[in-house]
Amino acid sequence: MKASAFSYTRASSVTDALKLLAQYGDDAKVLSGGQSLMPALNLRLSAPAWIVDIGAIPELRGVSVSGQILRIGALTRHVDILKSPEITQHAPLLSEAMTHVAHPAIRNKGTLGGNLAHADPASEMPACVIALDATIVVQGQSGERRIPAADFFTGIYETVLAPGELLVAVEMPVKRPHSAHFFHEYARRKGDYAMVGLGASAVLDGDMFAELRLGFFAVGEKPLLATASKHLIGKPVTAAVLAEAQAALDDELDPQEDQQATAGMRRYLARQLMARCVADMLGRPELNAGTAV
Ligand SMILES: Cc1cc2nc3c(=O)[nH]c(=O)nc-3n(C[C@H](O)[C@H](O)[C@H](O)COP(=O)(O)OP(=O)(O)OC[C@H]3O[C@@H](n4cnc5c(N)ncnc54)[C@H](O)[C@@H]3O)c2cc1C
Repeated sequence: MKASAFSYTRASSVTDALKLLAQYGDDAKVLSGGQSLMPALNLRLSAPAWIVDIGAIPELRGVSVSGQILRIGALTRHVDILKSPEITQHAPLLSEAMTHVAHPAIRNKGTLGGNLAHADPASEMPACVIALDATIVVQGQSGERRIPAADFFTGIYETVLAPGELLVAVEMPVKRPHSAHFFHEYARRKGDYAMVGLGASAVLDGDMFAELRLGFFAVGEKPLLATASKHLIGKPVTAAVLAEAQAALDDELDPQEDQQATAGMRRYLARQLMARCVADMLGRPELNAGTAV
């Protein structure tokens, strides 16, 4: 199938893009890397009258570190995240997770901003930015809004972005001393969307968690910052403590059934991921085997 007819305009700056979006209103759609929008147009799931291409706006590009904050511009492509020494040093969870996002041809075009704005519940990056306690920076005609990543995603392909607003950057605290991260997803093949996945970050206090943020994806309508982590923080983690956390996680999940997995399978895989993550971060392989006492 081919896209229905649309008019195309290229914005030269954020101000220009915001003006164009205000002018065309609901008839307009933003284009970044096109890796989700173009298939949607071709399948006629979306049929805007205007495409506002933001792909050449220089101020939306780039990765920088200022004090304790890492800032990633919305147009930073997936491949740029893989290659960025700043991201590898300060947010290694993103670099590791990105190797699981799609395939090289898509990673050469797709952008972080587009990926987050698209808000696919099976996407890796939304769960990772939640785990990293990131802030999503959004700009509209009335100015800037700074939204905690955990509040940004509201449902399947839904965010708090208002019509006419642009996602301009993502900011997150740089990696702290004694911190750890974990990423794993169960997918049929590397590069496929996950059946269930987890991106996590932690701060360790000796052999315990001082902080733990668990960002699950493909377990519901939006990425989940699991509150079950509170069962694991500030105390020695035994098999019983882990089982309690897994039961609490199960209560939080609302997985869908689709061609890839049943809801029950997703619940099982999420519990497995929690055990694997805790065992890995604490250096306690026996917790993953379920044999700890
Ligand atoms: C075969 C295939 C496999 C894929 N596999 C995966 C995968 O495993 N994991 C994964 O996470 N993704 C996957 N993707 C999606 C891919 O990562 C996309 O690149 C990404 O979702 C969208 O980024 P984009 O820059 O291409 O955005 P676009 O396609 O240009 O835009 C996507 C949406 O976001 C909006 N938008 C874009 N930029 C902004 C902005 N700055 N502000 C406000 N709104 C904006 C657009 O209007 C549109 O609605 C896959 C895609 C394909 C085609």
